[in-house]
Amino acid sequence: MSIDQAKAILNDTFGYEAFRPLQQEVISNVLKGRDTLVIMPTGGGKSLCYQIPACIFDGLTIVISPLISLMKDQVEQLDEYGVPAVFLNSSLTDEEYRYNVSRLRTGEVDLLYLAPETLMMESTRSLLGDLKVDCFTIDEAHCISEWGHDFRPDYRQLAEVRKDFPDAVCLALTATATPRVRDDIRQILQMKDSAVFVASFNRKNLLLRVVDKDNPLDQILDFLYTRQNQSGIIYCFSRRQVDELYLDLKAEGHLVRPYHAGLSEKERTRNQDAFIRDDIRIIVATVAFGMGINKPDVRFVIHHDMPQNIESYYQQIGRAGRDGLKADCLLLYSYSDKQKIQYFINQKEGNEKKVAEQHLASLIHFLEYDKCRRIPLLNYFGEEYNQEECGMCDNCLRQKGDLQDYTEQAQKYLSCVVRTGERFGAHHIADVLRGSKAKKVLEQNHDELSTYGIGKDWSKNQWIQLSRLLIRRGYLEKDTSHGSLKMTPEAKAVLDGNERVQGVLDRTQTGKEGIERPK
Ligand code: ADP
Ligand code: ZN
Repeated sequence: MSIDQAKAILNDTFGYEAFRPLQQEVISNVLKGRDTLVIMPTGGGKSLCYQIPACIFDGLTIVISPLISLMKDQVEQLDEYGVPAVFLNSSLTDEEYRYNVSRLRTGEVDLLYLAPETLMMESTRSLLGDLKVDCFTIDEAHCISEWGHDFRPDYRQLAEVRKDFPDAVCLALTATATPRVRDDIRQILQMKDSAVFVASFNRKNLLLRVVDKDNPLDQILDFLYTRQNQSGIIYCFSRRQVDELYLDLKAEGHLVRPYHAGLSEKERTRNQDAFIRDDIRIIVATVAFGMGINKPDVRFVIHHDMPQNIESYYQQIGRAGRDGLKADCLLLYSYSDKQKIQYFINQKEGNEKKVAEQHLASLIHFLEYDKCRRIPLLNYFGEEYNQEECGMCDNCLRQKGDLQDYTEQAQKYLSCVVRTGERFGAHHIADVLRGSKAKKVLEQNHDELSTYGIGKDWSKNQWIQLSRLLIRRGYLEKDTSHGSLKMTPEAKAVLDGNERVQGVLDRTQTGKEGIERPK
């Protein structure tokens, strides 16, 4: 069993010229019978890491995968390459099931795809007991860890089942593993002599941008205006939001379909296929969309709402630009989204709550980061990013001159928040600063405050944008129920003149520069 053999299979069976980074190392390790953990971003080429050894081993390679649709695709694809593979799961008819079992018994099959719950069944385990198993592969291995974003209790039992095949080499693969998850996988699977291969998670061709959510529909329409013939995915937090945005975009003449778990399976498949075949351009979806989608020319991914955590964000943007060409990733960020997520976290308990809180904190850190976004993103995955500027994120592309000093205005604003008793929202504070005669201002006698009218030189909109900057920087906190603004302890340093506030006020632009969407 040599790597030359593997290379020959890569060329002749799969028709590829050369190995992608780490494929050769992983395959060689597996062929030596050493347990291996592979961490590679989506699209990195994980499948070949077990498919090629499977072609070389005498015995069977078992592949545990949580996604039935993915299994089916893979088996069909392998079929086309002439690699004998079958799957066993609940979607098969009795007849299909029996047929697959009979093929397995003859020993002609190289790869067997199984859902974890199928593997756990007595009948499967006794069948496998009769077969020679050379490799036990666990795809989406992060599902085994509570620290992953997709924990599945079923996966925990794999460690047990694995003992049924003491002579088989164990290969675990995942696209998302923080160092913590990585250690978990190794420990739970009791990988002996384990080797971990970590591919770089840096997707250089993705342009990363985070902008303030202002008027999301308008912002998205601006964005789409200059990308008319491009395929893209727009992720929303809820089904309701998906339906709403889908109708809005459709009304504007976009070729768009929705996708979420509330639609029938038939409808979901139809919409997904239409997207892959380019019958439509845009899919508006919840997180339910995307697993196992192999569309190389997705040119943009928009997050209408904040993603749940960095891992899901990374997975979702990872669906763009698989062809290696430039793709746009735009995230619309608002403080109330953060609070929405916080609300869900508060319903949780114990360890689960702790995990969710850390995930949120890391995500916020990324969203509020004001240097190269690849630094916090890649650090999250345990990868050092040494370059100062990637040239492919909003912060790196921002002209130095865009960054302005707003310390003086911030002091005025914060004082006004204090003087009005931290009970009012951004609009009211702006009104007071601008010396407005609005009824609410007069009723509260806020025209008698020392901060009344000290900010006439700025428009209301500018003050509101400043309030967003102050929230972003953690100087102000906004109450979700009535929108009132409160100072945080950090704000004192600004008021005392010990800390300067620099930033960019208008972070709402999403369109390409210079091209206006006619409204
Ligand atoms: P992952 O499972 O890591 O998301 P896949 O195994 O699905 O990635 O591979 C992604 C794409 O890259 C597939 O279309 C696959 O055929 C292709 N691919 C994988 N390895 C190579 C290679 N060595 N050369 C060319 N294409 C490859
Ligand atoms: Zn950058």
